[in-house]
Amino acid sequence: MITASVLVLLGIGFTAAVILAVASKVLYVYEDPRIAQVESVLAGANCGGCGYPGCAGAAQGVVEGKAGATVCVIGGDQVATNVATIMGLEFSSMEKQIAFVDCTGGTRAEDVYIYEGAKDCRAQHLLYSGSKMCPEGCLGYGTCVTACQFGAIEMGPNGYPVVDPNLCTACGGCEQVCPRGVITIWGMTARIMHLNETTDCLAPCRQRCPGQINIPRYIEQVSRGDYAGALETIRERIPMPLSIGRVCPHPCEDVCRRGHVDEPVGINMIKRFAADWEMNSGQRLPISCAPDTGRKIAVVGGGPAGLSCAFSLRRLGHNPTIFESMPALGGQLRYGIPEYRLPKDILNWEIQGIIDLGIDVEYEKFFGTDFTLNSLKKDGYEAVFLGIGAWMNMTLRIENEEAKGVETGTEFLTKVGLGIETGINKKVVVIGGGNTAIDTARTGVRLGANVTLMYRRTRDEMPANIEEIIGAEEENVNYLFLAAPTRIVTDDSDHVTHVEYIEMELGEPDDSGRRRPIPIEGSETLIEADTVYTAIGQKPELSCLYENGTCDLEETRWRTLGADSDTLQTALPHVFTGGDMHTGPALVITALGEGRKAARSIHQYLNEDAPHISANTQREMIDYTMFTNVPDVGLRDRSKMPNLIECDERTCTFKEIEGAISEAEAKHETCRCLRCGLTCYNRDLVDGQECIVDECVKNP
Ligand code: FAD
Repeated sequence: MITASVLVLLGIGFTAAVILAVASKVLYVYEDPRIAQVESVLAGANCGGCGYPGCAGAAQGVVEGKAGATVCVIGGDQVATNVATIMGLEFSSMEKQIAFVDCTGGTRAEDVYIYEGAKDCRAQHLLYSGSKMCPEGCLGYGTCVTACQFGAIEMGPNGYPVVDPNLCTACGGCEQVCPRGVITIWGMTARIMHLNETTDCLAPCRQRCPGQINIPRYIEQVSRGDYAGALETIRERIPMPLSIGRVCPHPCEDVCRRGHVDEPVGINMIKRFAADWEMNSGQRLPISCAPDTGRKIAVVGGGPAGLSCAFSLRRLGHNPTIFESMPALGGQLRYGIPEYRLPKDILNWEIQGIIDLGIDVEYEKFFGTDFTLNSLKKDGYEAVFLGIGAWMNMTLRIENEEAKGVETGTEFLTKVGLGIETGINKKVVVIGGGNTAIDTARTGVRLGANVTLMYRRTRDEMPANIEEIIGAEEENVNYLFLAAPTRIVTDDSDHVTHVEYIEMELGEPDDSGRRRPIPIEGSETLIEADTVYTAIGQKPELSCLYENGTCDLEETRWRTLGADSDTLQTALPHVFTGGDMHTGPALVITALGEGRKAARSIHQYLNEDAPHISANTQREMIDYTMFTNVPDVGLRDRSKMPNLIECDERTCTFKEIEGAISEAEAKHETCRCLRCGLTCYNRDLVDGQECIVDECVKNP
């Protein structure tokens, strides 16, 4: 009996063991060992900044392919490398992200409502969008401070949040709770890609700058002596602060609010000061680039637009090659603008810094002859930027325009830029009123000529920079206003001897807003001339776009290359444009701005198939921010750009004329800045009061 019972028990035991063994196979929950491995190399803070419930959740996300090696927001490069190694991936480097406060208003933004008891930004925002008059500015109740788990944000003395870059993990908690979008998590790529939006804190100068440089920010950085930071801010938008600091007609200063009090802040002189500081230090500041993507892009034309496009593309990790028809880069900065305004050694230094980022250059390669859009495609270029400028001269359409001794101003300036014989004589007439005309005239004076500049309107209507007009006057260029050429008179050898012109009077304003010149019948007069330079405008030379007589791109009615004005994409999806080729003759800063804009679109085209922009993109000046007076601001004199050489010495040398302001003057000029936001500005700077620099702005 006992034996039978034992046998039964053994049988039950055996059956149970078999069932358990089978069940363990069926019900076994497999956990990928890599989850534990990944979790073990994460920072272990369980902060949730990655968006997963703790580090275990993040590790699972990585192994399931839902999160990348950079999942850990506080881990840095080393943690990401370890995660990548476990996952059998390669990791080069992680872009540093940081919370960025785009509001300088804080307590300076006026209240429009008083809410008793609602002391949370989100709660206030629900009530007619909050207490502040400024629709975009910080409400100042510090909801972001409470949301930050890392103690990286505090409310600064000026009533807006201040981020400690050393503590910020870019987890995004602050960004999520801010109802006004004042805080954004930024990395270098995002900053390069960003276009001004109407919801940004755009001071008037920032709205007007065609390069979209964050002017208030770099002025504030200079005021604190952070010159390297200022240059980094400028280079997020444009790569040529040295050149632009010398030649920009600074449209930003025209809308500077201080202009309503005394004179606008010397914004461009502050920029030049910072740029010269770097060059004079003898050391280049590092410029960061994203890891190599290996994507090849052709940049056609190495002027400001092409250089800027190549620079931004390189910083975004791509491999641009510049194809340039001339023996050196720089476009009109080199072959148009004369040495006394922009010395070639300074231009060379600046361009070298751009090329050194790892940009290939093919010199003396003419688009349309040496290579075409098709050949670029065959050579593996995934996208093309066309920025060949506007080098075709308009003609006067008058008798004997082809005579010997008659040439265009740009041909003359290019010869001077190349250092070759110009053939200039002694009695020179320059026809035109823009920058090219003035540069031609002043260069002619330096080559020993007596120069008369003939313009069909008056000095007030001249499109040239005012500084240039004055400079030419100081150098004894004779102005002949209200005069239009009607005929070139020649001798027997077909060489110019005179220019016949007709006197003009001004009528009603035309499309350009300037008063229309009207000829005065019978007023024809002769002026002696042995050399004539015409400078009445240029347009792009588009014949290079045609292959076998056809062209898939669109030409506008202004004979520029047609493209979407926001994305700069042409009719061919992989072809983009910018600069004078797209806008017609404009400014260096416009060309630089378009270069970055095109690089941004190319980056999107390569990664997301199509370029796109935000619905909030700022295109016009924002009306309600354009004040006509700014009360409660005391007078402060504007610094003066020093002259490096005396006026009477100038006419026999090509040495640079204008110097940089000193460090003390730069600081003084930054103190004149009203630190404008959209609607706020510093009201408390009364006459003679010492300028107090805002020490609490810590953002990198
Ligand atoms: P560009 O500077 O013209 O560069 C185009 C590049 O493309 C050149 O390097 C050219 O060699 C190359 N290229 C042309 N055709 C081909 C081809 N088929 N294949 C390959 N490469 C080609 N602006 C200011 O802001 N301030 C000033 O003081 C000022 N002064 C000026 C003075 C003069 C005399 C001139 C002419 C212009 C001035 N400008 C000034 C305007 C400014 O220089 C231009 O707006 C700016 O240079 C445009 O840049 P970009 O790159 O579009 O064109």
